Amino acid sequence: MYDLAIAGGGPGGVAAGVYAGRKKLNTLLITENFLGQSSVSSDIQNWIGTPSISGQQLAKNLENHLRNYENQVDIKTGEKIEKITEIEENGKKVFEIKTNKETYRAKTVLVTTGSHRKRLRAERADELEHRGITYCATCDGPLFANKDVVIIGGGNAGFETASQLLAYTKSVTLLHKNGKFKADEVTVKTVSSHPNFKLVHNAETTKILGDNFATGLIYKDIETGESHEIKTDGIFIEIGAEPTTGFVADLVELNDYKAITVDSHTQRTSKEGIWAAGDCTDGLYHQNNIAVGDAIKALENIYLYLKTK
Ligand SMILES: Cc1cc2nc3c(=O)[nH]c(=O)nc-3n(C[C@H](O)[C@H](O)[C@H](O)COP(=O)(O)OP(=O)(O)OC[C@H]3O[C@@H](n4cnc5c(N)ncnc54)[C@H](O)[C@@H]3O)c2cc1C
Repeated sequence: MYDLAIAGGGPGGVAAGVYAGRKKLNTLLITENFLGQSSVSSDIQNWIGTPSISGQQLAKNLENHLRNYENQVDIKTGEKIEKITEIEENGKKVFEIKTNKETYRAKTVLVTTGSHRKRLRAERADELEHRGITYCATCDGPLFANKDVVIIGGGNAGFETASQLLAYTKSVTLLHKNGKFKADEVTVKTVSSHPNFKLVHNAETTKILGDNFATGLIYKDIETGESHEIKTDGIFIEIGAEPTTGFVADLVELNDYKAITVDSHTQRTSKEGIWAAGDCTDGLYHQNNIAVGDAIKALENIYLYLKTK
């Protein structure tokens, strides 16, 4: 029986793990990997105390820091948490954490599983992923230099991706589904004024075309109901992110966007014994430094809870 089980090994999970190790809590940390979301960034310039670092190096540094506390923190990588349930043991309520490999028990749980990209629901989109369809412009953008590309999604991420790709692709067509843009006005204006940029409104992508590699797509104009075809060399999907919270959805309160609601003073969730921090929560801002701070706040409160209960 562990004092604490930490779910996730991004900046939030690692920060909590380091603090738990230093406080000598008998801790379990389960993570699929140590690659937090910004690990795809080539240059992070706001990790406080480090003016510039690649996302990969930051992830390595975080993992190495945590591994200094391996005598106190039992680290399980390559494991995916499938379900957390509350059980009773010797008259006390504890938590059972079921992964794709093992089942563990802990007195308290801290969820720091961040968020993941929303998937495009269009015919053949899954089949052609990594074959002309990508969810990571930063990683794959340069492969499409001098090509015609399409971006699906009219939020900030869509327009920022457009701004990035316009620097080296032949053309960028952005498909936006709903009438009003979610992106900042200034970004929309700057990107829209580029001569190689084209905007398509009311476009719902229904099918990706191509045999082994995406060569185009079909979209439906949601106002007229008509279908149109676009030929393209690459498709970038930027339709938002969703908190990774499915495995605790029956146990803690989530908001309409599937984020775990927390008390911002302590990071406590609606369920006694469970805390959450970072991008999986309903916190207003999502950044590496914030995930770290929130997780430490949670850890301090967990420590107090365990020692005074
Ligand atoms: C492209 C991009 C660039 C960014 N650039 C910056 C930047 O420059 N500066 C900045 O401050 N922020 C940046 N961010 C935001 C920042 O990455 C996030 O705010 C931060 O990663 C949140 O940390 P986290 O610990 O909450 O979650 P995450 O980083 O999402 O980590 C979640 C962890 O949980 C694990 N996990 C998920 N589900 C499970 C499961 N079921 N079982 C086990 N493990 C699981 C994952 O493997 C991962 O290790 C960027 C985000 C993106 C997408």
